Amino acid sequence: MVSLDKALIALDKSGSFRVYLAVTTTIAETAREIHKTTPVATAALGRVLTAGALMGIMMKQPSDKVTLQFKGDGPAREILVTAYGTGDVKGYVSDPDVDLPLKDGKLAVGDAIGIGQLTCIRDIGLKEPYLGRIDLVSGEIADDLTAYFFISDQKESSVLLGETIAETGTVQSAAGMIIQMMPDPKEGAVDALEALLRDAPSIAKLAEEARSDVLSARGAVLTEQSLAEETLGEMLKRFFAPLPAEFEPELLEYRDVRWNCDCSRERIEEVLLSLGRAELAKLAEEDHGAELMCQFCRSRYTFTQDELLALIKGERKPKC
Ligand SMILES: [Zn+2]
Repeated sequence: MVSLDKALIALDKSGSFRVYLAVTTTIAETAREIHKTTPVATAALGRVLTAGALMGIMMKQPSDKVTLQFKGDGPAREILVTAYGTGDVKGYVSDPDVDLPLKDGKLAVGDAIGIGQLTCIRDIGLKEPYLGRIDLVSGEIADDLTAYFFISDQKESSVLLGETIAETGTVQSAAGMIIQMMPDPKEGAVDALEALLRDAPSIAKLAEEARSDVLSARGAVLTEQSLAEETLGEMLKRFFAPLPAEFEPELLEYRDVRWNCDCSRERIEEVLLSLGRAELAKLAEEDHGAELMCQFCRSRYTFTQDELLALIKGERKPKC
């Protein structure tokens, strides 16, 4: 399904909580296409990408960067996602072929990740990036992030992440939401949200239903952009409908979120140079060249022997 991924930020009328909501179907599907993931790996990577995109738009500056690493003893081994304040996100899973039987009819994401740790690195341009780490709660991603916000950020938040995967293995729908309590919430807000979240619908199903209802009502007159925005608006309305009116969320802004890998030949050259000149000389002499692959988007960069020698001499190939 080709669609435009979008997010929205909302604040409830009483100023008690903020909502970050995103539909990330294209991001998750792009990752699946690039990494050729099995359904359980698609779900695991898709959830971390969605969380990354949401945490990206929570940051203040476009250049702010957040890295999420889920590392466990399960067969998926590691999932790494990097997101920016711009809404750009990229990621990979160590073993995209991990295949596990369904557990209670659901994709066994927790078993794929296993027991391990979640590390979150936020780089907001200060001297040192901020690093937080917790033990994984379930490896199901959303629970782990909810725990992370509470333990490491001392912020009461709820994270919902989900996907529906078609029988062919493609991503039919992916979405996520982070609800973050503001300091000094109005009395009753926490209880009302807790009650709401106890019976919360699947966020990916909600996205699918909202999109298809918006499409059938007004699809003919909508651009991709307004379809994506109205879908989010509809999701927000439906999800929070059971709350008392004083906690009704109101839209602050829409944001773009997208898959984007920012690797380039220049960056890969930096990686090569960071190996040191001796190591580069070895590559040039013994291997007569080098091929490097970007782990995030699997683009391959090849360097001939002459190009490596030029790098060692400090010459860069002129851009043409
Ligand atoms: Zn790349």
